[in-house]
Amino acid sequence: MNFELSEEQIMFRDMARRFAKQEMLPTLKDYERQRKVNYDVIKKMASLGLIGAHIPQEYGGLGLDYTTSTIIWEQLSQVSWTQTLTSVGQCVLAGTILTYAASEEQKKRYLPPLCRGEMIIAMAAVEPNAGSDATAIEASAVLDGDEWVINGNKNFISHGSIADVVLVLVQTDKAKGAKGMAVIAVDKGTPGFSSREVEMLGGRAGDIASLGFSDCRAPKENLVGEVGRGLQNSLVGIDTARLFIAAGGVGMAQGCLDASIKYAKERRQFGKPIASFQLVQETIARMQAEISAIRWQVYYAAELKSQGKPHAKELSAAKWLATELAVRVSNEAVRLHGAYGCTDDFPVEQHYRDSVLSTILGGTTEMHKLLIGRELLDINAMV
Ligand SMILES: Cc1cc2nc3c(=O)[nH]c(=O)nc-3n(C[C@H](O)[C@H](O)[C@H](O)COP(=O)(O)OP(=O)(O)OC[C@H]3O[C@@H](n4cnc5c(N)ncnc54)[C@H](O)[C@@H]3O)c2cc1C
Repeated sequence: MNFELSEEQIMFRDMARRFAKQEMLPTLKDYERQRKVNYDVIKKMASLGLIGAHIPQEYGGLGLDYTTSTIIWEQLSQVSWTQTLTSVGQCVLAGTILTYAASEEQKKRYLPPLCRGEMIIAMAAVEPNAGSDATAIEASAVLDGDEWVINGNKNFISHGSIADVVLVLVQTDKAKGAKGMAVIAVDKGTPGFSSREVEMLGGRAGDIASLGFSDCRAPKENLVGEVGRGLQNSLVGIDTARLFIAAGGVGMAQGCLDASIKYAKERRQFGKPIASFQLVQETIARMQAEISAIRWQVYYAAELKSQGKPHAKELSAAKWLATELAVRVSNEAVRLHGAYGCTDDFPVEQHYRDSVLSTILGGTTEMHKLLIGRELLDINAMV
């Protein structure tokens, strides 16, 4: 057992922390207020290699293990989970699926520009009637000559309206259930493909969209992986997304703790800094205790995944605990800042909004509890 970060991990941790403070923080409030994506951040992050941390080097990534990638994702999320989702998240979800399932030609076409920040690729599984239950998707794809004809709707898709390409999970044969599912790449601008941005509680400096496909035609060769393996291939990407979101939860919580320590020392009431009141110290001590415990759970899940070992229940615990931690800590941090904490002059308000979102994507807290229950009890309580 070794609890020390390696020299390389410390180097990437410090690089990501510096990047977040110097390149994300100064303009973050403007982008949050305008509800706009900062493409400069995506480009600059890509120039350091941080976007494709876990993608193999031969396809333009850094080829780092999941533990080191997790450390990077955590640092970036300390400043903005949403900007991290918008820049790195696409490599995490779509990038992982492509690395795992795409043909060599597709990998070469998509992954290097993705890692260079020159292309945005979304992944669309969830639909109006199919959220936690991905097996219920209704979007269909029918082969007509050399083209797939796609019909259906997708909901709450990260970077959905700014994406150059969307990987769409579709049903090719309803009678086959999950065995009929496939992933098809659809280019922006394809006739019959539309997108509409959705206003969310958080995620303001990002882009979440509803997508529509109406007799949308994609070339036959845009199939990613095999027909019948669409769900499994998507779940490989979702596994990495869960780790990314868990890292983000720890990052947001740490960002709130740092802000709370600074504010508690500066803010004076009853003639003293509020940091000198025992109840305020208890709040800060609890934040620290929970963050450090849950950070190790996230690193543990990352390490198991890096080593190719079974990690489902450890990762579910990490995703559940880290995102609920972020909600709890950011809530307390807002209260510790008083009314000022409810304004966007302090980072805790933005983390509070973003943290709620993080408990939902990549599987809700309830789904992760049920996944752990299923593994321990060998009973599926989800259906
Ligand atoms: C910020 C954000 C980004 C997203 N990005 C993407 C994306 O890029 N691509 C994509 O495909 N999707 C994306 N999503 C969608 C996300 O994956 C879904 O929201 C999530 O899977 C939950 O589905 P749902 O919202 O339909 O909730 P539902 O599945 O309808 O769940 C509603 C409630 O019921 C509970 N519930 C459901 N089933 C059970 C059960 N069996 N037992 C107990 N409780 C249950 C849930 O835990 C939840 O509390 C994103 C969502 C958010 C918030």
